[in-house]
Amino acid sequence: MTVTEGSVATSGPGPSLVRLDGVGKDFRTIAGGSLRALDGVDLAVRRGEFVCLVGASGSGKSTLLSLIAGLSAPSRGTVLLDGAPVTGPGPDRGLVLQSGAVYPWRTVERNVAFGLELLPVSRAERARRVAWYLAETGLTGLRHALPKQLSGGQRQRVAIARALACEPRVLLLDEPFGALDVQTKEDMQLFVRRVWADTGTTVVMVTHDVEEAVFLGQRVVVLASDPGRLAADLPVQLPPDRDGTPRDLAVKRLPEFLTLRAEVEDQVRAYHQRHAATGSGG
Ligand code: ADP
Ligand code: MG
Repeated sequence: MTVTEGSVATSGPGPSLVRLDGVGKDFRTIAGGSLRALDGVDLAVRRGEFVCLVGASGSGKSTLLSLIAGLSAPSRGTVLLDGAPVTGPGPDRGLVLQSGAVYPWRTVERNVAFGLELLPVSRAERARRVAWYLAETGLTGLRHALPKQLSGGQRQRVAIARALACEPRVLLLDEPFGALDVQTKEDMQLFVRRVWADTGTTVVMVTHDVEEAVFLGQRVVVLASDPGRLAADLPVQLPPDRDGTPRDLAVKRLPEFLTLRAEVEDQVRAYHQRHAATGSGG
């Protein structure tokens, strides 16, 4: 476990924006038993930080994100946003899933405006934000297109633009590039990192792709399975991030990158194997 104070390039150490204290989540199973999906999770995310969550399938990554999103309530412990308990979903948290839910009958522009239509913002402000986030996400030329005319990567850009247009305090991404081919995925990685740098937004992103986590995150948090809990919290300090220039894909070939990637992979695997060895499923 490593403390990462001081490793944040954009915001510096500050108070936690998202804070989980002793969080546990149990689910009732069909057989009438109880499944401990998360246990004793303490996690703090600072304003402006980019945190990636990795872990084996079933380690509770999506459960953790849905607790921050307010889509479910913890069985134990507290989830705080800016010091206030999370009591439900809200426009201050933008959630994007693997199959970015875009409305097929709405144009790109109207999809991006969707969340804003539910907020008390003026028409002029709505138009301004839609135009800005379309440009930011490279979708201006496609604003009148319908989702069926878009590629998978473009549809995910629409979902991300829609979440960002509400200017949430935290952007929550659950395996947003999991369904994309490698080339598109790398384009999207560069895209999301640039959006993060441009907007200063806080990002918590779940991925099962360790390379993606190390490339994108300022911190990589590893979850262990059964019950889901924090196994490691590793800072990512790669040269291009330290001198302020944007990180590019060549970083993935640096020795420091490969070492950290191997370390995270070992952590994920160690907990997965221990889990498998106990014969408790997997
Ligand atoms: P991950 O996203 O890391 O793959 P999840 O958070 O989806 O893991 O799930 C963690 C555990 O909780 C799994 O064992 C999963 O089957 C269980 N689980 C998740 N959601 C529910 C639910 N709504 N009801 C019952 N069990 C659930
Ligand atoms: Mg999941």
